[in-house]
Amino acid sequence: MTDLAGMNPRELSDWCKEQGLPAFRGKQIFQWIHQGADFDEMTNLPLSLRQQLRQTAVAQPVSIIEERKSRIDDTVKFLFGLKDGNCVEGVLMRYHHGCTLCISTQVGCRMGCTFCASTLDGCVRSLTAGEMLGEILCANRYLKGESRVHNVVLMGSGEPLDNYDNVMRFLRLLREENGVNIGLRNVSLSTCGLVPKMYQLAEENLPVTLSVSLHAPNDDIRRKTMPIAKVYPMEELLAACRNYIEKTGRRVIFEYALVGGVNCEDEHAVELASRLRGMQCHVNLIPLNVVEERDLKGVTEKTVRRFMDKLESLHISVTRRREMGDDIEGACGQLRRKTIMDKQGEGNNEP
Ligand code: SAH
Repeated sequence: MTDLAGMNPRELSDWCKEQGLPAFRGKQIFQWIHQGADFDEMTNLPLSLRQQLRQTAVAQPVSIIEERKSRIDDTVKFLFGLKDGNCVEGVLMRYHHGCTLCISTQVGCRMGCTFCASTLDGCVRSLTAGEMLGEILCANRYLKGESRVHNVVLMGSGEPLDNYDNVMRFLRLLREENGVNIGLRNVSLSTCGLVPKMYQLAEENLPVTLSVSLHAPNDDIRRKTMPIAKVYPMEELLAACRNYIEKTGRRVIFEYALVGGVNCEDEHAVELASRLRGMQCHVNLIPLNVVEERDLKGVTEKTVRRFMDKLESLHISVTRRREMGDDIEGACGQLRRKTIMDKQGEGNNEP
């Protein structure tokens, strides 16, 4: 089956020609796909063609298999089903200025960060560009025209830069005219710090915001929770960030998850501020979302406040991430994992 959602209009036209169809069908199919339509709904295509397409190709590679609405805010967590039976998570957040969708880029993750649920069973496979787009199309369908996805963050499960080519293809699809039409200034890509790929990204000439999961003020602490820190020391990581800022003119966002007893003392804030001094950057503090399987502690509100005040007093631009959907397994990989575990549990109960 050919995944049509990953193709741009030109490629779809070429594909149509290969199938013996007129090229203009490619443009029609592209528009329908980006509107979230399946072949049955492509009403300006002859019925026989729709039937023919259904047998050889896939228009909508993703479906919603579960949705959980937060009782605290308007956040919705989705479990997205893929055609091969795998599933990934996405989170839809509604702000007054529009909707943001957090999407997954891989089924699982192989980066091994100790605080993260996505990585507990490693990486099953990378998502295709069509599947990443499919997550957005699902959310748009869910919104039923009342609103649509305006901003996209690549912060669900997976390491986007470990799925580089598919992610680049996906980003270029986003800004196609007649497509979902999301400008890349409205896209944030989060990485645990694959340094060579960060340099490569800086050369792509795409105005995406780069978020870097730093989570520590020095290599000793970073290595405790992030295996990637053993491959790329912080100085190399920060040099790659400076290069990104210089090449794109965009500030870098540093994500910093506060882990009780590990990285949230005053001295850590002071060290962090000294490492980031002079950089066009912003720090986003995230109180650790405690993952049951991991032996790491969260932090109190007072600790978050103190760390934030300390950074501010050292003239570092800092905010804390709004915790949304806390009651719906909002953290990375938690819902998928829970669903898989529940299924296994059900299986075990069978006679
Ligand atoms: N692989 C990419 C993107 C996915 S994770 C990356 O590492 O950046 C998105 C963000 O959530 C990262 O900053 C990640 O470190 C953070 N995160 C993962 N698990 C978390 C948890 N349990 N509590 C708080 N933040 C977490």
